[in-house]
Amino acid sequence: MKLLLGIDIGGTKIGIGLGDESGRLLGSSYKDNRDTDPAEVLPWIVSEANRLASSAGITVKDIAAFGISAPFPADAARGIMLRPPNNPKWRNVAILDYLKANLGIDGCFENDANCGALAEWFFGAGRGCSDFIYLTMSTGIGGGIIAAGKLVRGGKALSAGELGHICIQLDGRQCSCGMRGCYEAYCGGRALAARMAEELADQPDSMIMKLASEPGKPDMRTLEQAVRANDPYAVKLWEEMSLRNAQAIGAFINAFNPQKIVLGTLAWAVGDLYTEPILKELPRFCWEEPRKACEIVSSELKREISSYAGIAAALNFLKERSEI
Ligand SMILES: [Zn+2]
Repeated sequence: MKLLLGIDIGGTKIGIGLGDESGRLLGSSYKDNRDTDPAEVLPWIVSEANRLASSAGITVKDIAAFGISAPFPADAARGIMLRPPNNPKWRNVAILDYLKANLGIDGCFENDANCGALAEWFFGAGRGCSDFIYLTMSTGIGGGIIAAGKLVRGGKALSAGELGHICIQLDGRQCSCGMRGCYEAYCGGRALAARMAEELADQPDSMIMKLASEPGKPDMRTLEQAVRANDPYAVKLWEEMSLRNAQAIGAFINAFNPQKIVLGTLAWAVGDLYTEPILKELPRFCWEEPRKACEIVSSELKREISSYAGIAAALNFLKERSEI
């Protein structure tokens, strides 16, 4: 059984996990990543990797490979984190080369949504599929595509799978990526929160503004509560979101004919209220045959997905080199 090391660089948290190819976790460690300096974090990763290995009765040299799961924008080919939006001190950090040199083992660098897809593929809802799509459905919408049994990375930019940034509305809502009308601008948690705050700014007595846990700052949880209480504004926004989700997911079904589409955070946190309206609208946006051949399910790994992200990337790295 090969041993693998996963390193998940999140915007607010860093996780390190030691596991094996079956998905068994042998140890893990976490660190807050708010306002950190990579000059301190990188040596910490190396010392924690050594500590986890020795707790498991091995040395780092016994680990077959490591995998780094990191947010974009990044130079994925060279393993450099360029400018992660939540970590202002992390600029042009050559994390892949640093860890190869300081751990003394080989490893890989993947964007976090691709790692989510790999984690669900090896250890979660995508097990056994040759073709499936994972959508993060969180503050933003990230995607990862497995087609014909391989992770799809694309060509020179290695940007395939950016499914949150397909344009679904000409001259539509402004997206944080700079384009207009992106899928994420209609269904991403951050975009919907901003939209509610903007549209209800002068309505402090509206249900959503009253339910908001922070004054003036409703979030997806607020929206869900208001929908369950039948607030007309919330129900209308939810219907629009569901229609837009169906529009994008229908396009993915026609483009890739996946066996499954696995939906992340919002889908498992909200449940049927989230997925059922999408299924209802889906026939408008894709052909019947691929639609019937595609199961739409929630993430199996749920909030544990980050523990498996880097380990799954490492496992895929070995798989692509035919070492497993
Ligand atoms: Zn966009």
